[in-house]
Amino acid sequence: MKQPCPECELRAIQSSITKESLEREVSAMKYVQGITAPENQYKNRLDICEKCSALVSQIMCSECGAYVLFRAKNKKSSCPRAKWAAQGC
Ligand code: SF4
Repeated sequence: MKQPCPECELRAIQSSITKESLEREVSAMKYVQGITAPENQYKNRLDICEKCSALVSQIMCSECGAYVLFRAKNKKSSCPRAKWAAQGC
């Protein structure tokens, strides 16, 4: 039996990830004090990312390789270009 190519499998998974699918995942996350960023902070961070030259395909930061929606939702995350900071660290 032919083994699936890991690189092709990864590409298939990545191509199914869209901004909308990530938004659904993030909106399903519960607010946890000390872990998740409050909504206004999350939105402010994403506004900055949307204007940044490092943003790729509306979802990924080419500077750090993270999906910005998840990075912005983590209260203790920070921008690798120091455009927005961690909170509570
Ligand atoms: S995390 Fe920072 S460097 Fe990455 S896309 Fe957002 S603003 Fe740009």
